[in-house]
Amino acid sequence: MPRFSVKWVVAVVLIGVVGGAFFFCEYLIYFPTILKCAWPKISHARGGEGIDGHSVDSAVRAMVLSDTHLLGAVGGHWFDKLRREWQMERAFQTALWLLRPEIVFILGDIFDEGKWSSQKHWEDDVRRFHRMFRHSTDTELVVLVGNHDIGFHYEMDWFKLQRFEKVFNASSTRIVTKKGVNFLLVNSVALHGDGCPICQSVEKELIKLSRDLNCSLQSAQSGSGVMDGCEGSQLYPPTPPIMLQHYPLFRVSDAGCTGQDAAPPEERHLLFREKYDVLSKEASQRLLQWFKPRLILSGHTHSGCEVLHDNKYPEISVPSFSWRNRNNPSFILATVSPSSYTLSKCFLPEESTVISVYCSAGACLLLLFLAHCLWMKGLLQCLSLCLLGKHKSL
Ligand SMILES: [Zn+2]
Ligand SMILES: [Zn+2]
Repeated sequence: MPRFSVKWVVAVVLIGVVGGAFFFCEYLIYFPTILKCAWPKISHARGGEGIDGHSVDSAVRAMVLSDTHLLGAVGGHWFDKLRREWQMERAFQTALWLLRPEIVFILGDIFDEGKWSSQKHWEDDVRRFHRMFRHSTDTELVVLVGNHDIGFHYEMDWFKLQRFEKVFNASSTRIVTKKGVNFLLVNSVALHGDGCPICQSVEKELIKLSRDLNCSLQSAQSGSGVMDGCEGSQLYPPTPPIMLQHYPLFRVSDAGCTGQDAAPPEERHLLFREKYDVLSKEASQRLLQWFKPRLILSGHTHSGCEVLHDNKYPEISVPSFSWRNRNNPSFILATVSPSSYTLSKCFLPEESTVISVYCSAGACLLLLFLAHCLWMKGLLQCLSLCLLGKHKSL
């Protein structure tokens, strides 16, 4: 075979192996993984068509993810940033394209260094966030505040909170209503109950929302318009809310958590610290009494868990969406009608799988290189033998 052809064959094989591995790991892998996920269907028995007066088609398709932790300028290595942000962008964009959620909630810790970033670095983080989580007007993106966005309670101040709220153009504590479903968003960083100015403001807002929701329920039950004591209250669809927040409600530890994305066994029995890992007992009880939520979705722990509070209030801990925090990130798919809901979990590609594919491609390249060297060596030996043979015959 002429040398020109050998070079081309080697080049084509090299490009095939490198390009194939790159294309698979950086684009293609997200499709088959997310294609396995589907919107859960509300069963008729649980309040689907005919029972709550709303057909299953009128339920909201909500995607819930958490703890994206976009790395900042201080603690973020450029390669870490590049890898993990690209992973989240591809996962999010592929999920949007394949699953078409109507609303997406991100449960806080959007940024890793919002708690201390300068204005310039903050603007850079925000610009990257908007690029990664871009979406069409068919999808509403709702972002909650976490301790990494504005700081733990003692680090939080009005400037950081308002900077966050301005970027996302909304108050961090409010109700989002969609297709008759009330989603209650709570600024859980401000629930220390110590009378700090932001805590007072958030509690006042929560008390008002609780009154509005209770008045809405009572008015609908009585059927006689506005109830006494409810004058001036804003009416919402008469249904208990789905509560979303960054901190989980109080629980002792993750000892009771199971499943492939629960905390590692050696960490499950570590006791949670109130107001640091989870909300205080008092704040948790107040929220449950005020709102009687039919479901609570929270982040912060970076691991999955299902908890039942007071034997009637289910809470789901949503794991981190980023490879930086876990090898097997995931998000929740929720189909929610005004009186029922059903959830499923969608796992993203594992980082270890991608590393294995790159390692295998590297091993293939090494073998090809060795084979090529051996082949060339054999060719040279053959040529030298031929030349020597000719020389001798002369
Ligand atoms: Zn976090
Ligand atoms: Zn957090």
